[in-house]
Amino acid sequence: MACAGSPKAEEGIPDTVSPLADEGSCAHKVGELALISPAIKPHDLIGATFHNTVVTDDMADYVTEYIEYVDSISMERQIEVSLDIAAIDGRGTADAVITTHSQVHIIDLKYGRGRVEAEWNVQLMLYALGMLSKHPSHEFVLHIVQPRINNYSVWKIPAKDLRRWAETTLAEAVAKTMTPRPIRTPGEVQCRWCKAAPTCKALYDHTFEVLQGLFEADMTPDDTQRVLDNKALIEKFLKAVEENALKELIVGHPVQGYKLVAGRKARKWSPSAEREITSKLGDEAYTTKLKGIGDITKLLGKDFVADNTITPTPKLILAKEGDKRNRIDSIGFNAL
Ligand code: SF4
Repeated sequence: MACAGSPKAEEGIPDTVSPLADEGSCAHKVGELALISPAIKPHDLIGATFHNTVVTDDMADYVTEYIEYVDSISMERQIEVSLDIAAIDGRGTADAVITTHSQVHIIDLKYGRGRVEAEWNVQLMLYALGMLSKHPSHEFVLHIVQPRINNYSVWKIPAKDLRRWAETTLAEAVAKTMTPRPIRTPGEVQCRWCKAAPTCKALYDHTFEVLQGLFEADMTPDDTQRVLDNKALIEKFLKAVEENALKELIVGHPVQGYKLVAGRKARKWSPSAEREITSKLGDEAYTTKLKGIGDITKLLGKDFVADNTITPTPKLILAKEGDKRNRIDSIGFNAL
């Protein structure tokens, strides 16, 4: 919605499959199965493969946190709800929807590590619009669940405000996409998943504009801020170009100045290795690892886990001034 040109720019570009996208789809599948059938626990699915990705202990732990979050709102829910969104003449699928007598909760699992907020989240607001005709005077509660970065973002919007947003901001944005040459507006959020990013002139121009002129003299505080403000976008552009070039070479299209080569070779055990090794070493062939927090919670309960876990001091990271997290004052050079 932030880039009126993106629907046209993406036209005809097929969806690409990436290990990260597959990993997200796999986590969603585990969550869907566990929410639909409470008898199935994410940990029961460790080792199963969905979307070319094997369910790991960690994934089962994270999805368990998502399930517990959904359960904490209500056990009565709809899963993978297909929604008709007339305002954009499209459809969408909400991960989980819970309807109470006065509220509609729309819950979205995000398995990536890029932080997403619920406030003014267009994807969730569109899903809410898909529910609006059935619940014209409810309050809509939008939830983003990102267990891998411990982000549980919640935002509420009454039906009347949602309707007003659809009739003004959304309607204007949709109208802008319908013009013969809709304007492309690069930005971190909209370019992140745009299929046109590897070849988008507007994104290229924006990246070039940010970087040109730097280093004619030493960087000023303004230069530093400009680069940091655009870091994700510049990285996105460079990564998209690289991934696209690799894809072109893989399907046999030449890329000037580049070729395909084999990556670093990593050895792994052959299918018969386990039998051979255990015949020689027995139990010595294996190492043991403490079960994850999700597994131990299941076995010994939340109180036990609370008494036996610590939260290490987090690494210091940069955040924008407007970020909701508390500012940490300088800790002094010697502490670094
Ligand atoms: S890459 Fe960014 S600027 Fe270009 S069309 Fe997509 S969203 Fe718009």
